[in-house]
Amino acid sequence: MDAARHRSFLPHSRRVRDHPGVLRHFLAPVVPKAAASLSLPRTLVTGTGGVALTFDDGPHPEGTPAVLEVLARAGARATFFVIGEQVERRPALVAEAAAAGHLIGLHGYHHRLQPRLSRRGVREDVARGVAAIEDAVGAAPVWHRPPYGIYSPAGLRAARSAGLRPLLWSRWGKDWRKFTTPRRIAGRALAAILPGDVILLHDADFYSARDSYKHTIAALELMTSELKARKLDTVLPV
Ligand SMILES: [Zn+2]
Repeated sequence: MDAARHRSFLPHSRRVRDHPGVLRHFLAPVVPKAAASLSLPRTLVTGTGGVALTFDDGPHPEGTPAVLEVLARAGARATFFVIGEQVERRPALVAEAAAAGHLIGLHGYHHRLQPRLSRRGVREDVARGVAAIEDAVGAAPVWHRPPYGIYSPAGLRAARSAGLRPLLWSRWGKDWRKFTTPRRIAGRALAAILPGDVILLHDADFYSARDSYKHTIAALELMTSELKARKLDTVLPV
């Protein structure tokens, strides 16, 4: 996310903000050392030989089918970090993605910043999200990425005790922005890309600029052919 957008998530209370334990959770999505100190992976385990495409915020009635189509044409695989309440609205779409060989991870039941939820609220959010995915695809998710990549200490405990493994990202296209282009998204996401990188994209515009997924879909076309040219496979986290 943008630095300014990220700063706006920082707790307003100085006492909370300056507490190193809390601050690390906020910085994890943008400061690799903070993520490492919480054992939050940003990349795949080494030796996977490919890159992971990840799509947050869906399923979306237009964005998700369009992304699935581009992936199918390219023979690429991806991980979808879905929102439970959106899964309940269109479970068949999530089942279709899973049946096509993609992985379904949990983003949250609601798209809410974890540190703004109570301890109980965040536990419920994780549990309801897991249940929504189980109902849709018949299996519980393994991977979890919180909204904005920001865990609260209670949220991280809740995810881990539900058996979920956190996965942040190491590359992004900043595809949620209103003023961007497919070429800029693809260029930013693939600049200096290495095997093991995890790319953050969005197949929905529920929580970002309207129609932003349309740029993402066009960017995905560019990215899949560029990855092919560089002989980089798309892989799922293991
Ligand atoms: Zn999100």
